[in-house]
Amino acid sequence: MARYVGAIDQGTTSTRFMIFDRAGREIGRHQLEHRQIQPRSGWVEHDPAEIWENTLKTIAVALADTGLTPADLAAVGITNQRETVVLWDRATGAPVAPAIVWQDTRTDYLIPTLDAEFISGRTGLPPATYFSATKVQWLLDNVTGLRERATRGEVLFGTVDSWLIWNLTGGLHITDVTNASRTMLMDLSTLDWDPSLLTLFGIPRAMLPEIRSSAEVYGTAEAALPGVPIAAAIGDQQAALFGQTCFEPGEAKCTYGTGGFLLMNTGTTPVRSSHGLITTVGYRFGTDAPVFALEGSIAACGAAIQWLRDQLGVLETAGDSETLAGQVEDSAGVCFVPAFSGLFAPYWRPDARAAIVGLSRFHTAAHITRAALEAICYQTRDVVEAMAQDSGTALDCLQVDGGVTANALCMQLQADILGVPVSRPAVAETTALGAAYAAGLAVGFWDSLDDLRANRHEDRRWQPSWSAARRSEGITRWRAAIDRTLDWVS
Ligand code: ADP
Repeated sequence: MARYVGAIDQGTTSTRFMIFDRAGREIGRHQLEHRQIQPRSGWVEHDPAEIWENTLKTIAVALADTGLTPADLAAVGITNQRETVVLWDRATGAPVAPAIVWQDTRTDYLIPTLDAEFISGRTGLPPATYFSATKVQWLLDNVTGLRERATRGEVLFGTVDSWLIWNLTGGLHITDVTNASRTMLMDLSTLDWDPSLLTLFGIPRAMLPEIRSSAEVYGTAEAALPGVPIAAAIGDQQAALFGQTCFEPGEAKCTYGTGGFLLMNTGTTPVRSSHGLITTVGYRFGTDAPVFALEGSIAACGAAIQWLRDQLGVLETAGDSETLAGQVEDSAGVCFVPAFSGLFAPYWRPDARAAIVGLSRFHTAAHITRAALEAICYQTRDVVEAMAQDSGTALDCLQVDGGVTANALCMQLQADILGVPVSRPAVAETTALGAAYAAGLAVGFWDSLDDLRANRHEDRRWQPSWSAARRSEGITRWRAAIDRTLDWVS
């Protein structure tokens, strides 16, 4: 009998394949980074073919390293970077354009033309470049002949889950409801594509995938894992919510990757936000009622560290940020707002641009790096506050995961800046784990949510240590820095 479940975790910077056992323990993994293509300021692209090749390679290497065969896997689940747009040719399967990544702001000129109330009423999303709709519109408007071909059903659209499922199955064109809820094209009340939004963005119905639940057997992964059912597809943040076992209304997690994402389970009724949060589908099992979530997204979290490493060259690795920032007691008044691609929740200002303020000749790369870590935490605090106001529940502990949580100094700062404890689970890869859990539940590998809850173990907890006065001083300075980025004319 198959003893394990596999998960494809197709993230913004890399693709991983992970294998878990029934206790939720990691058995093996392989991971490959892909190119971040930035042809112009504000543009971010991926090569869909590279992503697919990396998916195949990571699966092959993880199996080879563990000595497993596809027969050892009861199912495979997919989790993916959301909103990113892939368009491909139905006949050849070849991409017709680079993937436009969620961070890409090339469509910012379209946002002010959109009726915010109408769009958020239908989709739960504030109009933003972040979501898929304007990216698809841009490609249809700018690639010669594409709209005509798409209307004839010759060109297909999908988020990355669709792209991988198409390739794995050899031609099944579907997406899951969590990914669909991020396109700005799905009606949250019907969970289907909204004809008026398709008209608004000029997107032909013929190019859209069928919307399915997050956990059911869609087909088998013939191209990579012959005979293994693909039994889940779920957007990365929703997968992390699931992997953190936030199954009850009021439970919340924050994932710190390239971006930052705080999600709170709100049960089977969608909660509309009046504080700049997103209403989204958390997950849906087969024909069960969908579970909704409130989400606060932060455009740049680990991206701030990447920038210090890759553009400024003050770090050799992301991990060095902890050592460098640890050389100073505090940021000595420096504030860094990493609004490289605008500000998301709760501000939603695509035009905001990053700023480092409060510099004197005294300051060093250590202060700026510490300010970058603090910025990750202040941005999270802004979202936690908005969520408390919308949901009426104050957090008593924040469950955390993602690449940045390897940084213990950053997590200590998070507890200090929030004023509540921060808890990191033993399995840090909650995104992949969530996809594995969803797939395993769909095929009966796990019986119930209780089986999954029993698998959660805390690895480390950080307690707040700042005085209330220090916290409020920090927040005041942060707000002042945010104001500088909002009034910047780019
Ligand atoms: P994604 O799924 O978005 O690719 P990951 O969860 O893999 O993200 O996290 C990658 C991000 O975490 C990168 O932005 C990287 O700069 C950041 N990161 C990784 N390790 C550390 C660390 N020790 N300290 C701070 N940031 C880190």
